[in-house]
Amino acid sequence: MSSLLLSVDLEDVRDWVKDGTRYREGVPENTRNYLNHFKQWGVKATFFVVGEVARRYPWLIGEIVEAGHELACHGDVHLQLDKLTAQEFRADMLRNRKALENAGGKGIFGFRAPTFSLTARTAWAHEILAELGFTYSSSVLPAANPLYGWPEFGKGARQVAGGLWELPVTLHGIPGLPVPIAGGVYFRVLPFFLTEWAIGKSITYGQPVITYFHPYDIDCKQEKFMHPDLGGKKHLNMLMYIGRAKVLKRLDILHRSCPFQAYGEYINGLQAGPAEPTG
Ligand SMILES: [Zn+2]
Repeated sequence: MSSLLLSVDLEDVRDWVKDGTRYREGVPENTRNYLNHFKQWGVKATFFVVGEVARRYPWLIGEIVEAGHELACHGDVHLQLDKLTAQEFRADMLRNRKALENAGGKGIFGFRAPTFSLTARTAWAHEILAELGFTYSSSVLPAANPLYGWPEFGKGARQVAGGLWELPVTLHGIPGLPVPIAGGVYFRVLPFFLTEWAIGKSITYGQPVITYFHPYDIDCKQEKFMHPDLGGKKHLNMLMYIGRAKVLKRLDILHRSCPFQAYGEYINGLQAGPAEPTG
């Protein structure tokens, strides 16, 4: 039986908006909201944390660790991989991991590329992660996409370099709609019965459901401003604000029908391998 791997990409959207600090600070309140729900459900999650966020809120990172959740890397300042050389990426990872360790994190073995920016062109990142002792990455969007995508990678989790696992983000199973279903705008905006169907299908085929929620996905108090990576398109920006009140309610429904797990725990299970047949 597979499971839904629960994750929050812990970043501050204000960091990519001009004069972002004039807007309300949302990360601590939204993170605590996630933490409260995870506690209610009795589940553990993985927080992919941007180094800069860990330096800004070390006490918040402490609360995540204290609650027994897993910390993993999400880039030191959330730079997409095609903006870095291999050497720069290595240094970025070391800074990111150090920031989490300085905030109390231990046993950091996971990585998610900002904006799922690990593609065929930046596949060198897998080698570097393995070299640095990471055991898994969840950084590939295995479909064509206007931003980043690696359709040839394939939809299944597999080992890529030096034993490192790549867990590509779960796509919608409907032909012609190869979008990552379990997080962000798609989780908020698409009809929920389609999401439940796609998640059920993934679990049936023994694939983990790869999620990606953010602090802003549940932030109903955020002021209106233009989000990054949308090319200034107002109709796309409108979608950024739709369905935020539904996210935790939808997760609550999913939690009743499908097991939730942190990434590290899932990877440890894979590495342990299937039990020896007896008799
Ligand atoms: Zn991110």
